Amino acid sequence: MTSLLKESSAVKPAKVSTITKVIDMLDNRLTHRSSLYINGRWCAPENGLVLTDVINAADGSVLGHVPSGGVSDIEAAVQAARAAFESWSNLPPSVRADYLMKIQDGVVGRAVALAEIIAQEVGMPLKMASAIQVGLPVTNLGGFVRAIDEVEWEYELGNSSICREAAGVVAAITPWNYPLHQLVGKVGGALAAGCTVVAKPADIAPLSAFILADAIEEAGLPAGVFNLVSGPGRVIGDALSGHADVDLISFTGSTAVGSRIAKTAANNITRVALELGGKSASILLDDADLEKAVKTSVNNCFLNSGQTCSAWTRLVVPRSRQEVVIELAITAAKKLTLGHPMDEGTRLGPLACASQMASVLKMIKAAEGSERLVYGGSAAVAEVPEGGFYVHPTIFADVDNKSPIAQDEVFGPVLVIIPYDSVDEAVAIANDSAYGLAGAVWGADQERAVAVAKRIRTGQVDVNGGRFNPAAPFGGYKKSGYGREFGALGIEEFTELKAIQQ
Ligand code: NAP
Ligand code: MG
Repeated sequence: MTSLLKESSAVKPAKVSTITKVIDMLDNRLTHRSSLYINGRWCAPENGLVLTDVINAADGSVLGHVPSGGVSDIEAAVQAARAAFESWSNLPPSVRADYLMKIQDGVVGRAVALAEIIAQEVGMPLKMASAIQVGLPVTNLGGFVRAIDEVEWEYELGNSSICREAAGVVAAITPWNYPLHQLVGKVGGALAAGCTVVAKPADIAPLSAFILADAIEEAGLPAGVFNLVSGPGRVIGDALSGHADVDLISFTGSTAVGSRIAKTAANNITRVALELGGKSASILLDDADLEKAVKTSVNNCFLNSGQTCSAWTRLVVPRSRQEVVIELAITAAKKLTLGHPMDEGTRLGPLACASQMASVLKMIKAAEGSERLVYGGSAAVAEVPEGGFYVHPTIFADVDNKSPIAQDEVFGPVLVIIPYDSVDEAVAIANDSAYGLAGAVWGADQERAVAVAKRIRTGQVDVNGGRFNPAAPFGGYKKSGYGREFGALGIEEFTELKAIQQ
């Protein structure tokens, strides 16, 4: 164990000169924001300008700031969205598709800045941030454009005409881990459906939402169709989720906040869609290609330093193969060089904020008391920039699925390896979780692997590394939430059905 810890500390130091240069290149106007976007114009918060610093996850420095909106700004934004609703919802879907294409163009035109900003706000290595944090939302905006034609806006059923109509004013509340991707999942679906939007990004990584607003402004959307109000969720969240003029709240974030939002929304019988946490399992069947399965599972678990709701954080393996799997997992984890997200050699960045780092380290330390640590751990050191929120990738093995480290969402670079004795037991382990968001099954016999995938109670399962599909619905079972995002189903989520009889 000790030797593994020592080896794990052999990581590359960050190249400070390159980092400073890239930060200098960031356009101050993109990172230092002092206006909210309400009713088609940029305006100061009504109750005076209070700025919240956006912290660079890489070194704790200040990257920029955003205004802290208040309850009266939420009021103004909801009223603007309400007023814009009728004409926006009555536009032909193809016209809304044209606007979405223009927004996509605007995001593409800002892709470099977006990637640089998100890489530092969130901490994901630049190359990955560019492909995933920016590339994915661009793809998904295109996906919504295509999906508009797939939605059955109107069809006949006996003597009824069934019409799909926009749900109304949507409150889109998003977290910090994939800030643009999560916002696009809501804004793209809602705008396509004919809804108007009030967006509330997370204070930890809000800058990409402002750049999306720039793109939306440039696309010429009618005033009030999209509004952006930043500010602390605990202050403005209830005003938004408890607002009688909000018709649907689409929230991505923690289960605790999701539950609170659903309760507040219940006062007005407001519809709610919740994308919450996860503790997903990757099951290796006895005939799996171990090398590929373990490598892919490790990379999946540690993507975005483990701050991915759908991450496969539990690797469920045949007991007889566990020791081989441990070696393969360590080999894969060692390739994930920890460092500054703007450094080309970095494969794993810091966590997004100090409180996230503290919470992850606390969970690792607690597990070290009772679990078998095979890689990393709270004492593992790496040469990383001072002041950043770095946590060494960590693997526990021989873990009992009932233990806290196998049950609780860590939201950090921690993988647990759980042995099983029969396929039934593997399925039971995967399903023995409060969450139900994603998962994976690996096995040479595709049919058998798919049959196992069907037994897993989660919204998505990838079999043998099946490719990401932007048209497929994404969402959870159990405490991972309800509702689906992306593709045609992700547009239908923002609609109501009307039956007209004649
Ligand atoms: P969070 O604390 O739940 O915050 C999410 C958003 O809700 C932020 O914009 C936050 O604002 C806002 N908020 C906080 N309190 C609120 C309230 N009372 N009413 C309304 N909004 C409120 O989650 P997080 O810490 O940002 O993100 C991590 C969690 O999100 C993890 O549990 C993760 O699994 C989950 N997640 C799930 C998915 C998914 O698709 N299922 C995706 C990503 C993350 P402020 O931050 O500004 O206070
Ligand atoms: Mg939070």
